[in-house]
Amino acid sequence: MNRLPILCYHKVGPAEVEGRFLNVEPRTLRAQIGFLKRRGLGFVLARDLEGSWPERAVCLTFDDAYSSLHEHGVPVLLDCGVRASIYAVSGRVGQSSDWDGERARPLMAWDALRSLQDRGFEIGNHTVDHPALATLDRPAIADQIRSAHERLVAEGIGSSTLCYPYGSYSDAVGQVAGDVGYRVGLALGKRLARSGDPAIALPRIVVAYSDVVPKFWYRVFVRPMLRELAQFGAPRQQ
Ligand SMILES: [Zn+2]
Repeated sequence: MNRLPILCYHKVGPAEVEGRFLNVEPRTLRAQIGFLKRRGLGFVLARDLEGSWPERAVCLTFDDAYSSLHEHGVPVLLDCGVRASIYAVSGRVGQSSDWDGERARPLMAWDALRSLQDRGFEIGNHTVDHPALATLDRPAIADQIRSAHERLVAEGIGSSTLCYPYGSYSDAVGQVAGDVGYRVGLALGKRLARSGDPAIALPRIVVAYSDVVPKFWYRVFVRPMLRELAQFGAPRQQ
């Protein structure tokens, strides 16, 4: 069974401007990518996770399409020769992450998203308004996923995969995503994705501000393996 870390990032910028909440410093991102490269991992996009998976790979994802990612993160990624999957909230493009309340930060405009797509980044669906989908009724889930998809496509964006805000996922959410035509969906979970996982609900590991390389190594490789070992031989859950 192939295992693959799918990493979940948000903002990339100096803490003085972006704070530490859901942010990493550009130099931290560069060090993390260098570490992954030294381990011999290849970098894949989320849309590459349909069907068979490559050996020894990692997938970088960036939720919400913050302007700080464009300004500070993309130069690092391009310099390292790495591409990533970026998830845009169709009803907030060019505005701000108002669901963050007082921590709201600017979001990329359509032009920026298109130019990143032209440079090999994947731009995917992160709903219209960033709700916790599993708390909605089915028509509302369908509206959030389908309307966002249609808007992205109308703006010339590929929208080939989607990402659930807050990792909020249920069977109903997965069914709607499949009905809209998605084969790969990204949730959250403190473990590596496995090739046997349903592709419509792959777990991702959230990277935190304080994840300098030793801690990053622990979060991405050591802790998931320890959790797996701890489950091995544990009493079967009824
Ligand atoms: Zn989000």
